[in-house]
Amino acid sequence: MQRRQDDSPRIGISACLLGEEVRYDGGHKRDLYIVETLGPLVEWVPVCPEVELGLGTPREAIRLICNPKNPEAINLVSRSGNDLTVKMRRFARRRARELAKENLSGYILKKDSPSCGMERVKIWNEHNQEISERQGRGLFADELLRQFPNLPMEEEGRLHDPQLRENFIERVFIFRKLRALFAARWTV
Ligand code: SF4
Repeated sequence: MQRRQDDSPRIGISACLLGEEVRYDGGHKRDLYIVETLGPLVEWVPVCPEVELGLGTPREAIRLICNPKNPEAINLVSRSGNDLTVKMRRFARRRARELAKENLSGYILKKDSPSCGMERVKIWNEHNQEISERQGRGLFADELLRQFPNLPMEEEGRLHDPQLRENFIERVFIFRKLRALFAARWTV
C-alpha cells in the first residue's frame, strides 16, 4: 500500500469495509460513510485476518463455538469442523506486533465477525445452535484490544451513531497529536 505524503492519521481497518472482496462468500461490506466521508481524511491500513491466514476467498464460513469440554473456552471453527483457534491466535499476535510499527491512530473493525467483531459476536454450540445468552469477541479483535488497549477502536456499526462517530474521530485526532508529541525530541 502506498503511503500518503501528508500527516493524515493512519487507521487500521477490516478490509471488507473498504469494498475489498475478501469475505467468505467472495463479497465485501463496503461502508459508504467510511469510504466516502472518512476516506479522504485518513490513510487506511486494511487487514483481512482470514485471508492473511491463508483461508482464501471464497472459503468456508467460520464461527465461534463453545468448547463442549470447557464451556469457558471459545474456539474458532469452520463449518466442516476445522478448528482454527490456535492458528488464528498465533497469526493475530504476530500481525498485531507488525501493526505496532504502522503508527496507527485508530482501528475500525467489522461487527459480528468471528475474527474482527469487537463485541456481541454470536456463539454457537457443537450442534450448530446459537447460545443466545452468550456473546463473544472475534479472535483478531481480541488480540488488537490486548496489544493496543489505548488505541481508539470502534466497529463500523457503531459509527452510524453520530455521537459515537464524533467521539471516535476526536479520539483518533487526539491520539495522533499525542503520538507526534511523544515521538518528537524534547528539549528544555
Ligand atoms: S470481517 Fe474481517 S475477516 Fe471477515 S472478511 Fe472482513 S476483514 Fe476479513
